[in-house]
Amino acid sequence: MDCREIKPLLSEYQEGSLSEALQASVKAHLDGCPLCREELQLFENAWDMLREVPEIEPQPGYVGRFWARVAERESRPQPLTEGLQALWGSLWNVPALAAICVVLVIGLFSIRNVYWLTRADERLARLPLEEAEIVENIELAQHIEVIENIDLLEDFEIIENLDSLKS
Ligand SMILES: [Zn+2]
Repeated sequence: MDCREIKPLLSEYQEGSLSEALQASVKAHLDGCPLCREELQLFENAWDMLREVPEIEPQPGYVGRFWARVAERESRPQPLTEGLQALWGSLWNVPALAAICVVLVIGLFSIRNVYWLTRADERLARLPLEEAEIVENIELAQHIEVIENIDLLEDFEIIENLDSLKS
């Protein structure tokens, strides 16, 4: 047997759980192979270290107290600020935040337009009734302006005629 075949057997050799024939074969190899003896030594050292680690026995009632604490944490309501911080923290890293910002900007823009429209209506409502009617009948007001201009033109004709009468 060569080293490659011996190494997987070292654990069982150390425990003494190999068949008598294999146990003898491994021992024969180890007697003539310092490398495999060193390997076996490392293996035994590792086991010695594990045996030195004291076994930790949980105190009586530990498991019950553990689950009681878990239940207490779960039933305790999370403070609002912690919740908001968690929400903010999760949003901050997510592209969704950018989408929310876009929605907010569009929303503010729309709200501003609605605001100005409302303001225009308010100003109309505050005007005295007659003025409000004029503002609402801007087309009519423009016609009146044209009619006034026609009157002026007629006046000019009269003035021209006056001139001709003079001469
Ligand atoms: Zn060997």
